[in-house]
Amino acid sequence: MQQGSLNLTMQDIRQRVQHCINVASVYFNHSFTMPEVKFNQRGKIAGSARLQKNELRFNPVLMKDNLELFLSDVVPHEVCHLLAFTLYGRVKPHGREWQQLMREVFGRKPQTYHMMDVSKVAGQKFTYLCACGPIQLSIRRHNKVVRKVQQYRCLKCGSQLIAA
Ligand SMILES: [Zn+2]
Ligand SMILES: [Zn+2]
Repeated sequence: MQQGSLNLTMQDIRQRVQHCINVASVYFNHSFTMPEVKFNQRGKIAGSARLQKNELRFNPVLMKDNLELFLSDVVPHEVCHLLAFTLYGRVKPHGREWQQLMREVFGRKPQTYHMMDVSKVAGQKFTYLCACGPIQLSIRRHNKVVRKVQQYRCLKCGSQLIAA
């Protein structure tokens, strides 16, 4: 990825967050604080919100390939988590309050999943075996097994999983 284009994308996302904050501030006649915006979200997750810290994290890999969707949906989605927390406190992450904010403040369908191609960020899986059949473990779990810090059991039969 070219550094230049990533910087532009990050600028676009920041501006979009600011725009959403402005729209919500007008809507509620309350000045919401611009959150801290970071680009360190990893894995298959497009973005996430740290409610207490008023912070948003976006996935730089997914962001670059899906900028339109980030601007139209992912940014308002995450901003709505912060708004819901400020307005209503601890509520269900994608509950009634959040859905209403998405629909009424930003005119977006309150979707909780995304349909981006995650093949670039899909974590490597490792196959383990028990009598029930093969089970996939994440690289994080696999490393724990290798380092002998943790063993994992099959949820169905309870037997210890053995690396294939
Ligand atoms: Zn969410
Ligand atoms: Zn089993």
